[in-house]
Amino acid sequence: MAATALPVLFWSLPETVHSEDFTDRRSQMVEFDLKQRGILDSSVLGAMLKVPRHEFVESKHLNVAYADMALPIKKNQTISQPYIVALMTESARLKATDKVLEIGTGSAYQAAVLAEIVEQVYSIEIVKTLAEEAAERLNRLGYENVKTRHGDGYQGWEEAGPFDAILITAATPKIPQPLVDQLKTGGRMVMPLGEGRDSQNLVVLTKKKDGELHKEFITGVVFVPMTGEVRQ
Ligand code: SAH
Repeated sequence: MAATALPVLFWSLPETVHSEDFTDRRSQMVEFDLKQRGILDSSVLGAMLKVPRHEFVESKHLNVAYADMALPIKKNQTISQPYIVALMTESARLKATDKVLEIGTGSAYQAAVLAEIVEQVYSIEIVKTLAEEAAERLNRLGYENVKTRHGDGYQGWEEAGPFDAILITAATPKIPQPLVDQLKTGGRMVMPLGEGRDSQNLVVLTKKKDGELHKEFITGVVFVPMTGEVRQ
């Protein structure tokens, strides 16, 4: 009897310790890296407290899943640092009834954070492997209100628009006009804007009644480049 009981205990122990550990780390991340750095929106803080970031990083980075830094994912891409994910989400000034488009699904972490806050999320990823893995991950974690697509996000997702908010999570040298066209009046677009590889400006553009964009500078950021049509 003892010989069979021992392995069960051995195998079940690390699992339990791990998940409690992640919950603790996640609360610390929210407290120290988000709240104390000025993220105030309770829906954003709630979402960041809920989404299991460790499910979105590569297994070799599990120990730093909740550290406030960007981490490499496949195909030379990155999952953004928690503070920047929170800042972009807060800057989009979301309501529970909103429909949001994200360009650059990557690991789908940002998409999951959005999905905790709004009714419907659409996300486009240009790298096929990442798009496939992101779809599989969202499905496994039960995010039924996120639709993903493999392709160039430059042209947006016209059939699903217009959107209350659009987030571009890759650095773009210019504002993609098709995305502006798919934004509702009063809608917000958040993106790292700039020609440089090493730094861009995180901006929020609000579409006014006359169709003009009101631009607000948030902070300096470093994102991987948006590729495809925007570079032509
Ligand atoms: N939001 C992601 C991180 C984004 S990294 C996360 O939460 O993990 C930027 C992503 O944008 C990369 O996966 C990159 O492949 C993708 N990307 C770059 N250019 C794109 C384009 N034109 N259309 C769609 N996705 C693009």
